[in-house]
Amino acid sequence: MKVAQHLQFSLTACIAAALLLCSTAALPQAAPAKPKAPAAAKRGAPPKATHVLHLSAVKLEYSGWTDQRLMGIVRSAGRLLARCGVKLQRVELVSLVVPPSYLDLATPEGQRALARDYSVARPAVYFVRNTRSNPAFEAESFGRGNSGSRPGLADTVWITLSARDPGIALAHELAHVLMDSGEHSEEPGNLMRDQITPKNTALTGAQCARLRDTATGNGLLRKLTKE
Ligand SMILES: [Zn+2]
Repeated sequence: MKVAQHLQFSLTACIAAALLLCSTAALPQAAPAKPKAPAAAKRGAPPKATHVLHLSAVKLEYSGWTDQRLMGIVRSAGRLLARCGVKLQRVELVSLVVPPSYLDLATPEGQRALARDYSVARPAVYFVRNTRSNPAFEAESFGRGNSGSRPGLADTVWITLSARDPGIALAHELAHVLMDSGEHSEEPGNLMRDQITPKNTALTGAQCARLRDTATGNGLLRKLTKE
């Protein structure tokens, strides 16, 4: 873990030893491997993991986010991606103190500066306070295809405090990044419908295959050698 050398951001806390979600180590509230999420329970055990995901989670201090809330959201998203055989194996949580002007999504330049000046491994999720951008998104993501003029934002997800169903929103945005696609689905109940609701959490076999293949090709997932 390198320490930010840039003047405008100072690293206040860095849990450099990654939090292992599936171990007893993570946070005091860490859920055991079998959560009681209704959707997951209804659908039974996820398939055997064939790929692993290491995720960077960036929390902006004074944004209102807490480690506990943030990690709960990350775990929820991980449970949805597990249905594609993707195991969220490691989360690197980084807390940053930033100038107040960077607490909200305001301009692409601000996001780009943050992503550039404190670079973390990708894919990365930035937990920010609010949005002042227009159009206003509670959550958004940048794959490689839609970050053309902003390459520094590729493979990042941005979540605001006001995002509804944030675990589902994070899974949806991460799926955009992993598939490197901004496409939405019309299929009832699909996670990639443009509406984020608890009813929309399913991923098709084709979507999962695309997610795994594209993300592995882009270095965002690692294939397990033995299944
Ligand atoms: Zn979307």
